[in-house]
Amino acid sequence: LVHVTNLTVEFGDLRAVDGLSFRLEQGAALALVGESGSGKSTVASALLGLHRGTGARVGGSVEVAGVDVQQASDEELRRLRGAKAAMVFQDPLSSLDPYYAIGDQIAEVYRVHTRGSRRAARARAVEVLDRVGIPDAVRRSRSRPHEFSGGMRQRALIAMALACEPALLIADEPTTALDVTVQAQILDLLHTLRRQTGMGLLIVTHDVGVAAESVDDVLVMRHGRAVEQGPVAAVLGAPGEAYTRELLAAVP
Ligand code: ATP
Ligand code: MG
Repeated sequence: LVHVTNLTVEFGDLRAVDGLSFRLEQGAALALVGESGSGKSTVASALLGLHRGTGARVGGSVEVAGVDVQQASDEELRRLRGAKAAMVFQDPLSSLDPYYAIGDQIAEVYRVHTRGSRRAARARAVEVLDRVGIPDAVRRSRSRPHEFSGGMRQRALIAMALACEPALLIADEPTTALDVTVQAQILDLLHTLRRQTGMGLLIVTHDVGVAAESVDDVLVMRHGRAVEQGPVAAVLGAPGEAYTRELLAAVP
């Protein structure tokens, strides 16, 4: 589903991602783990071709859902984003407009990709809000983002990402701003959705504990490079690298 080979991303003099390679199979879950600034979000953006036209230099190859992201036309990229691969962004405000009802925003995303009717899009919005466990989804679909708690807002963002049934869901720090109980609920939700849909899941997190609980494989990043990668039990259970042990030691 995802095949990244020797990816580099440079912002001017800064090499934020430096020769990273990894794979993610359909239905599998992988976590990118590393401290702040290690390049995790930069990798996530590269999977959707979001560096195009920004001045960042991208090297290596990225294939997502059969699309060669580096070579793809703008139209192919447009179809990739949302419909084949969707991202829950690190900053919720970058995806939600405070002035519009959540349900309308999800419906709009769906309509842009399917070019279907407004009515079908509204129905789809309620359906996905219901799927992510928003109680009273019909009424809540009319609420604006500030009327949601942090956990509910995260659920709504996941619903938005699910609108077009993507084969890959990328969740960038999906639990960072949430308290521990809600964190567990969100991870549980992501897990359940993966089982139900068979989509691949890429979780980006600075929290090794989150990775340990929610994925099959883990890739530990530092300064844009892979320190260590493999099955969770091997990498986090018996880390071969001092840096991974340091990260684990920081978990309470
Ligand atoms: P965090 O855990 O804080 O979200 P991260 O691992 O996601 O961190 P990135 O956001 O990928 O890290 O950033 C990696 C490096 O690239 C950082 O030094 C950051 O300042 C730099 N960087 C990221 N995006 C840009 C950009 N658009 N322009 C210039 N530098 C950038
Ligand atoms: Mg980040």
